[in-house]
Amino acid sequence: MSAEGGTVASGPRVAVVGGGIGGLTLAIALRRHGITATVFERAPELREVGAAVALAANSNRLLRRIGLGPDIAGISVEPSALVYRHWREGRILAAHPIGRDNAYQERFGAPFYGMHRAQLQRILSAAFGTEDLCLDRNVIGLRETSAGITIEFDDGDSFDADIVVGADGVHSTVRSWVTVEQPPVYTRTSGFRGLAPIDALPSLPDPSVLQFWVGPDLHLLHYPIAGGLVNFLAVSEGPDVWPTKESTLTAAPDELATMLKGWHPAAVEMVTSVPQSARWALLHQPALRHWSRGRAVLIGDAAHAMLPHHGQGANQAVEDAVVLARCIVDAPTNEHTAAFERYQRLRRSRTRKIQHASLATSPLLHIPDGESTIARDAVFTDVPARIDWIHGHDAWPAATI
Ligand code: FAD
Repeated sequence: MSAEGGTVASGPRVAVVGGGIGGLTLAIALRRHGITATVFERAPELREVGAAVALAANSNRLLRRIGLGPDIAGISVEPSALVYRHWREGRILAAHPIGRDNAYQERFGAPFYGMHRAQLQRILSAAFGTEDLCLDRNVIGLRETSAGITIEFDDGDSFDADIVVGADGVHSTVRSWVTVEQPPVYTRTSGFRGLAPIDALPSLPDPSVLQFWVGPDLHLLHYPIAGGLVNFLAVSEGPDVWPTKESTLTAAPDELATMLKGWHPAAVEMVTSVPQSARWALLHQPALRHWSRGRAVLIGDAAHAMLPHHGQGANQAVEDAVVLARCIVDAPTNEHTAAFERYQRLRRSRTRKIQHASLATSPLLHIPDGESTIARDAVFTDVPARIDWIHGHDAWPAATI
């Protein structure tokens, strides 16, 4: 493909590889600063079926500032509270208001929302427009030239740019060009996801809450989204070895229900109300020392894939996107190295800390009944204070330092 077509841009020619949450947010943020990026997405259409995402105050405040606040509010559901429950008895271990009394927004300055992932993708792609969003474009490599950088597609085509941003997720092609450091590792934990109709959950104590059921070797997290649905993610220990390079494994029809034998009826009801999903490997990217090489730079999961236990993967992709846009805009023409160094300085230690907090949370959610649950429950009781540094963070002023 030649570089013709699309919008006439000012500033550097930016090519974004990956039209996920990070890539599209970056492209929208750049457009607000007068720079038009071209986004290359390998999927033929932007949609993810059967999955939801939760956006916390730290990304919602940024999405508001790039003009997406009302649209995102329109597709979202704010949970009434965060609740932790005992896996078998259903006993409440800790509870904190979210939407109730506007408690979360008062504390963190922006809302907490659950939404269909596909609807979020639609809002992002509508805000960016179709002119510079190229679907069905699978990037297989990069090549630096004396004049810039070229991305190569699997059909032999290529595209010339000044800057390439790898927003291509956990199995990033751009990352393997940027660094030879270790790729993401399997954490010996895996997840099952589903969207259960609330009507099919008569035993569920309160469908309006964001809730963790915690038990030995397994936890079940769920929250409401639009359309009378509850999105759930069940995470279990194992298998010890992930047998394939793919992120998912086909699961037996009753695999998750079998794991939940003896659990509270609400938990069993939830996972059996929909067909068994695939089983997802949960991955962690060991900290990369280099997020950029030459004219290419990484954002989101490509740079720092993390466990979902703080619900921060997509939120951190949004923070990266807004900060990187700012760094690119502030840098003088052809000073991409300074922009990338500033971006990495602003983002690396924060994302690393959140990755480690997510890793540390994993065993806490899978403790068997006994003495150690006392310390665990004390942590649950203290959650709002413990997540202040994540949800209360404002990446935008940080980017303008
Ligand atoms: P992605 O969303 O993975 O987007 C990458 C895009 O790049 C994709 O569209 C892909 O098709 C495209 N692509 C890949 N390779 C190429 C190529 N070679 N050429 C062109 N295009 C390419 N995070 C949260 O914040 N909240 C949650 O509630 C949450 N729940 C989760 C639950 C589970 C089970 C899992 C596994 C993750 C969850 N996450 C959550 C994490 C979140 O999904 C990711 O962190 C987030 O999607 C990362 O965004 P991204 O834009 O970096 O990458």
